[in-house]
Amino acid sequence: MLLRKVAQLCIASLLACTAVVAQDYPTKPIVVTVPFAAGGPTDALARQLGPVLSANLKQQVIIENTLGAGGTIGVNKVAKSRNDGYQLLLMHIGMSTSPSLYKELPYNTMNDFEFIGQVADVPMTLIAKTALPPDNLKDLVTYIKANKDKINLGNAGIGAASHLCGLLFLSAIQTNVTSVPYNGTGPAMNALMGGQIDLMCDQTTNTTQHILAGKVKVYGVTSKSRVTALRYVPTLNEAGLKNFEIAVWHGLYVPKGTPKPVVDRLIAALQAAVQDPKFKSQLESMGAAAVPVSKANPESLRTHLASEIEKWGKIIKAAGVPIN
Ligand code: ASP
Repeated sequence: MLLRKVAQLCIASLLACTAVVAQDYPTKPIVVTVPFAAGGPTDALARQLGPVLSANLKQQVIIENTLGAGGTIGVNKVAKSRNDGYQLLLMHIGMSTSPSLYKELPYNTMNDFEFIGQVADVPMTLIAKTALPPDNLKDLVTYIKANKDKINLGNAGIGAASHLCGLLFLSAIQTNVTSVPYNGTGPAMNALMGGQIDLMCDQTTNTTQHILAGKVKVYGVTSKSRVTALRYVPTLNEAGLKNFEIAVWHGLYVPKGTPKPVVDRLIAALQAAVQDPKFKSQLESMGAAAVPVSKANPESLRTHLASEIEKWGKIIKAAGVPIN
C-alpha cells in the first residue's frame, strides 16, 4: 500500500518522490563497502562501526569486502552505485594517496561522492616476522642494508596505506627491497605470521592484537606520540627515524547525488557513533581513536581530503615513488 503510494507520488513528481523516500530512509539493509580483505584494519573498523550505525538507523548494516588495486576497485564500485543511501564506502587515507600513485583512476575522488564525515584516526606500526633477527630499529636498518636482496616487505596493494608507509620507510633509510602486494592486510598479516614475508607497516587496528600476543615483532609506531594500547613501543621518530609520521584517517562516503535528507540522516548516525562510549573504547583498545564530533561532517572530510591529496602528492613525488 505504502509502496504503491510512493510509486504514484514518484510518477507525479520526482521531487516529492525523493522527499518521501528520504523521509522513510532507511527501509532496507545498508551495505558498507570495505575495499580490502576481511581481517584487515579497515575491515576491523567497519565491523566496529556497523553495529553502532545499525542501532542508530534501526536497520541492518552489512559489511561487504570488495578487493583489489589498493582499494580503488571498491571505491569505484561505490562511485558507480545507486545514489539512494544504501551503498556506503568506508575508505582510509588511500582516498588521498591513490590520485598520486595511479596514472589514471576510474573515478573522480573529489567529485564522485557525497561526503558524510571522518570516522577515526589510526596510527601505523612497523612490524616483522618474529624470526627476523634485529630487536630494535637501529639494528633493523643495518640488517636491511646488509640483506637488501633477501628481505621483502608486504603490503595491502598499490595505493594501500601499508604500501605508502613501506615506501616512505624505504625512502627514509635510502634502501630498496622487494615489495609483495596482497589484497588487504588480512592476507598480508597471515603471510607475515607464516614467515613468507619479512616486514610490513600497518595499522594498529590490525597489528595491536598480534604485537601484544607476541606473534609479530614491532620496531615503532608511526604517530607523533606513543599509542596508549602499545605504551612500551617507541615512536619511529624516538627510535631514530627523524620526523617520520603517518596518521591513517578514515572517511565515510556515499555516491554523488544521494538526496540531502538521506545524507543528513547518515551524518547524524555517524556523529552519534563517534560519541558512543563503547565504540570509542573499542577503538582505543585497538590502538585507534574515534574522531571528535567536530570532524564527523562533510565539510571537515572534504577539506581534509583536499589538503591530504595535496600533501601526499608532494611527498610521493619527492620520495620518487613509482606511479602505476
Ligand atoms: N590497512 C590496509 C592498508 O591500506 C588495508 C586493509 O585495511 O586491509 O594498508
